[in-house]
Amino acid sequence: MSQVHAFPKPGHNHARCTADALRKAEAVCAARKSRLTEIRRDVLETVWQSHVPVGAYDILSHLNENGGKTAPMAVYRALDFLMENGLVHRIASLNAFIGCAHMGEEHHAAQFLICHSCGTTAELESAPLKRALTQAVSERGFTIDSQIVEISGTCPHCRAA
Ligand SMILES: [Zn+2]
Ligand SMILES: [Zn+2]
Ligand SMILES: [Zn+2]
Repeated sequence: MSQVHAFPKPGHNHARCTADALRKAEAVCAARKSRLTEIRRDVLETVWQSHVPVGAYDILSHLNENGGKTAPMAVYRALDFLMENGLVHRIASLNAFIGCAHMGEEHHAAQFLICHSCGTTAELESAPLKRALTQAVSERGFTIDSQIVEISGTCPHCRAA
């Protein structure tokens, strides 16, 4: 994904992002013979309401906005499924979730760029950065289970504003 598209312009046709994401998610699930059940789809759609990570509690209150009775556990289970299938990623520093921008592609979301101004979060997949980190860590005799780097800063649109 090029840098131009990493941070979608404010005011872009976001309905298209959401529709695209849901379509890709359906395809990923079909290919894996798993099902994008109603709750999983609803949670995914809620995560995709913007490019800003959203917390589990906010997802739950969004789903129950119109008198729904979704249980917190159901949201957590749906999030687990979506994460296991690479459809959403967890942003640990925010304790929140973001839709994957590379669904269905083989990728390792190792770095996230988080705009502290608008909250927009983009995936960065830098192999050299990953290699450098692995190297630096192994020099200390440490073995990595997972390496996710969350980088806070200002996105190009906020910088321009
Ligand atoms: Zn969008
Ligand atoms: Zn991803
Ligand atoms: Zn921003």
